[in-house]
Amino acid sequence: MSVSTVAACRTTHAPLPVLGRDVTVPLVTGGEVTYAALDYAASAPALQRVWDDVAAYAPYYGSVHRGAGHLSQLSTDLFENARATVAEFLGCRAGDQVVFTRSTTDSLNLLAHALPAGCQVFVFETEHHAALLPWQGAHVTCLDAPRSPRQAVRALERALAGRDPHAPALVCVTGASNVTGELWPVRELAAAAHAHGARIVLDAAQLAPHHPVSVRDLDVDWVAFSGHKLYAPFGSGVLAGRPDWLREAEPYLAGGGASRRVTRRADGGVDVEWHEGAARHEAGSPNVIGAHAIASACRALTEAGFDTLVARERQLVRAVREGLAGVPGVKVLSLFGDDAPRVGVISFVVEGWNSSHFAAALSAEYGIGVRDGLFCAHPLVRTLLGAGPREAGECGAPGDAPSGGSLDAVRVSFGAGTPDEHIERFLGAVRELVRYGAKWRYRTQDGRCVPAV
Ligand code: PLP
Repeated sequence: MSVSTVAACRTTHAPLPVLGRDVTVPLVTGGEVTYAALDYAASAPALQRVWDDVAAYAPYYGSVHRGAGHLSQLSTDLFENARATVAEFLGCRAGDQVVFTRSTTDSLNLLAHALPAGCQVFVFETEHHAALLPWQGAHVTCLDAPRSPRQAVRALERALAGRDPHAPALVCVTGASNVTGELWPVRELAAAAHAHGARIVLDAAQLAPHHPVSVRDLDVDWVAFSGHKLYAPFGSGVLAGRPDWLREAEPYLAGGGASRRVTRRADGGVDVEWHEGAARHEAGSPNVIGAHAIASACRALTEAGFDTLVARERQLVRAVREGLAGVPGVKVLSLFGDDAPRVGVISFVVEGWNSSHFAAALSAEYGIGVRDGLFCAHPLVRTLLGAGPREAGECGAPGDAPSGGSLDAVRVSFGAGTPDEHIERFLGAVRELVRYGAKWRYRTQDGRCVPAV
């Protein structure tokens, strides 16, 4: 593999240590290379620090909230301290509540479950399905993809102005797109929502791993994110923010932990008094390791300093965008244009290549893990590709011939643990594939391109 024609990517700070940096993978062309994980937007590798903190706690693991034993009490303290750490990380206001969930999807479904009767929900078609779909039981207004942050604010203002002012309303918006990496004008959208008596929830799944998020400064009502995208892949997520709607709602799950008092009625039925705090929506045995891991990641990122992390990531983003711009036939997808601030998530199409074929060749011939498809944001990717609603190839499945038009895209994503070499290797590989083609033959299997061995 020759990457000599690729300009070196030299960032000013070292990446944060993550697990898996020495893992090698086989190449179809022979030999092995260290794996270049460039699919952070799906799941980021665990920070070494998170892994160490989890390992240090593991021998002391005990049940939370229930046991009288020492380790149970220690685990309960750890769980509640994790809640406090997350609240601090997110700049929560006094009285805000941190609920531990399984993921961003789970957090937004919890909020959807807690919507007051008659609530109107406003979303853009650009959202990840986790933020687009949970509101099906409410009256949903889906706004077209705006072409600038300003247009987004105006479109929301127009939509909110026409709503029933007596009905409760919620706006759901992403902080950073999982397709283009572009930052959304969250503060301005929050101001617009509040000016029209609506509330706003921020989907920070892609923002929190890359940028500081402050509930207070952004003036959002809730924020949701996932541990596995924040270098803490232990099955936990977070919904943080105002307690009132959650307090009024029936528990998300009914069971132990959510109930304060349960009694039999004379008629043979069962009466229950539910908790009012976060526990109301955390029934069952909590994932204490997941919560501890998220708290550890929050501390690690804060200590590393977001100024440094953001500055370094900007250098990586610039290197990738400039590198891709120099490859003939590569088109980077963007809603807000070249100058929009963005995180390390970049999607592109390559003329004459099926995205699945391209991603398969990056993996099999260069040991690089990226993603191809519609990234659980079908309406957005179709808008960006200029395609209408499409039935065939729904999941970005390649046709019988590996090379063809662009039904979908390739996404490269990276973050605090990405070494410069991964970016250099990726850009070198893109150039070689476009210039010389794949070295191997590929075939379609179960709707995906795989090396024809
Ligand atoms: N929101 C955005 C912007 C995402 O990118 C994702 C996942 O990719 C989600 C929500 C859903 O996250 P999870 O799968 O962890 O629930």
